[in-house]
Amino acid sequence: MMNATLDLKSDFPILAREIHGRPLAYLDNAATTQKPLCVIERVSNFYRTRNSNIHRGVHSLSEESSTLYEDARETVRAFIGAGDMREIVFTAGTTDAINLLARALGDCTTGGDAPFGDETRYSSDAQIGEGDEILVTGMEHHSNLLPWQDLCRRRGAVLRVLPLERNGTLHMEDISRRITSRTRLVAVTHVSNVTGIVNPVEELVRHAHDRGALVLVDGAQAVAHMPVDVASLDCDFYVFSGHKMFAENGIGVLYGKAARLEELPPARVGGGMVTSVTLESRREADLPLRFEAGTPNYPAAVSLAEAIRYLQRIGMQRIREHENTLHEYMREQLVKVGGLTVYGSAPEHSGSVAFNLDGIQPYDAGMIMDRMGVAVRTGTHCAEPLMRHFDINGCIRASLALYNDTDDIDRLAEAVRKAQSMLG
Ligand code: PLP
Repeated sequence: MMNATLDLKSDFPILAREIHGRPLAYLDNAATTQKPLCVIERVSNFYRTRNSNIHRGVHSLSEESSTLYEDARETVRAFIGAGDMREIVFTAGTTDAINLLARALGDCTTGGDAPFGDETRYSSDAQIGEGDEILVTGMEHHSNLLPWQDLCRRRGAVLRVLPLERNGTLHMEDISRRITSRTRLVAVTHVSNVTGIVNPVEELVRHAHDRGALVLVDGAQAVAHMPVDVASLDCDFYVFSGHKMFAENGIGVLYGKAARLEELPPARVGGGMVTSVTLESRREADLPLRFEAGTPNYPAAVSLAEAIRYLQRIGMQRIREHENTLHEYMREQLVKVGGLTVYGSAPEHSGSVAFNLDGIQPYDAGMIMDRMGVAVRTGTHCAEPLMRHFDINGCIRASLALYNDTDDIDRLAEAVRKAQSMLG
């Protein structure tokens, strides 16, 4: 057994729980992460002392809430290396952020023919239309596939797919042929939520920009696991969810380069995104509020800032190293158990390992593992095209976070052996 480099379980109250009389080994972090005490207390304290709707009041509580919300935006900005707070749009999560972007890129009437005042601010060139192409990859989560399917269907654009190699990595060899002058957007996950494969995002961005295409990176499985710097990635958009990085549910981020966001219409309209309104027209607020119609989930934004401070105290590089060591250990231990197939292998992994036990349905194995106190996820992981690629109906996924240790992995191996002996 090797030494884990981080020892953080005591920061997370839920990890002290027992499941079926055994200590919990929580390996379902790709679905959602547990919350450290500092985040739980921050949210509780916020409701005890500060809560009031933001941006709409002169009274003290509203001002304090508004300040905390905007402070959270600055914390996110610094955390992902964005140049400007205007580039950080709060959303309800990754799925919400991608849907927002898909609407703004293709579903809105622009060009000045609507009876409102602001359309001339937007560039109709930024809209995706008939004959344009969107390139996704064969490993996307449904949340980074379905909004693009819909957009293509509605606007007569064409969805293209960057295929995968047998080992689950992107087929990069003829990438310069696959991104053409018709490609308007490349939508790619930073890290696969199934195999944990880390994609060569910088290389994709270079190829896409050479052809004048934009790049959206789905960072849902990356931000809690590795340093992310959107400026050096040079992607046009980057999205992620708070609940997968130790914050509350219901908060997420759409990062967009200011110049790109400026040319997009708001996609959703309502209170909070305007500076003035008449019965016939409106003047829209500047970035980023233009994209935040309605009351945002400001308590969750406060929790996100607290979660980020927690991550920063530990250090993203240390987290990456710790999880790398554990990831390698997990793969080794599973191979040692034998009688199973691990899906996906690449030079760089993060977070998840996907596997199946020979002759055993993943769901049945997951039930036995739960009886052993080991929480893993079974099924298609919202990535059915990837399941088809591996020619499987589903699989078991064990996914790591910073609080996991070698003991959790040993427990995983023990639970797998138990499932094999009971079901094999
Ligand atoms: N993208 C990836 C890669 C994911 O792993 C997930 C969730 O598992 C999502 C998008 C969707 O995230 P959310 O459900 O928080 O919107």
